[in-house]
Amino acid sequence: MRNKVIFGNWKMNGTNAAVKEFLKAVDQSANNSEVIAGLGLPFTALSTGITNAKNVKIAAQNVHFEKNGAFTGEISIEMLQEIGVEYVIIGHSERREMFNETDATVNAKAKAILQANMIPLVCCGETLATKEAGKTIEWVNGQIKAAYEGITATDAIKTIIAYEPIWAIGTGKTATSQDAEEVCKAIRQNLATIYNQQTADQITIQYGGSVKPDNIKELMSMPNIDGALVGGASLLANDYLALVNYN
Ligand code: 13P
Repeated sequence: MRNKVIFGNWKMNGTNAAVKEFLKAVDQSANNSEVIAGLGLPFTALSTGITNAKNVKIAAQNVHFEKNGAFTGEISIEMLQEIGVEYVIIGHSERREMFNETDATVNAKAKAILQANMIPLVCCGETLATKEAGKTIEWVNGQIKAAYEGITATDAIKTIIAYEPIWAIGTGKTATSQDAEEVCKAIRQNLATIYNQQTADQITIQYGGSVKPDNIKELMSMPNIDGALVGGASLLANDYLALVNYN
């Protein structure tokens, strides 16, 4: 049985005061025994998140793959571990499009995170142009193949994949549950080719892109969708709770 994993991604939102208040409102009720609930926070609010969360897992939204050194403005894995962070979102399309994240850096980050016994949430997803050209599955499979290059099956099963079509992020346009399922199923088939079916069957695959309380249930009913990565709707306490307690 795969874990069901529903994480918010607050992106560049969330002062320490706001995170504290939010967790006060949601943490106690984010106790769905069938769902691992989490929240991706800005670096500056991670410690506050960890101190104030019992049920909600706290994720960073990026990390550098090098141990330390002359990388002005970057944060290392050791720095995240020191404050108790266990999950790191990597390869989000916003980082790929605006901050030069590449398949190669996503792969380097995934390896470094796994080596530190932390869990990467590996994002992938296509642009509208790629979708309209009918190349979604080819594109996403290429991203996943590159992200998992050199990662063993034993490590791969610890990871989480987030399929987030770029055209559905922040646009209110969710992929239909059938379309999202088709791509998540193709990702799993790709993982079975890279590793084997047993490994592929153990990897949690989330969908992300305009997930809301009113569409989570249908998305989660799809056989290859095991969770969600939620932007906008995760900022509101009531919506966050409706998402993580969708069942
Ligand atoms: P929205 O839920 O706001 O579309 O954002 C999705 C996302 O990018 C989560 O990482």
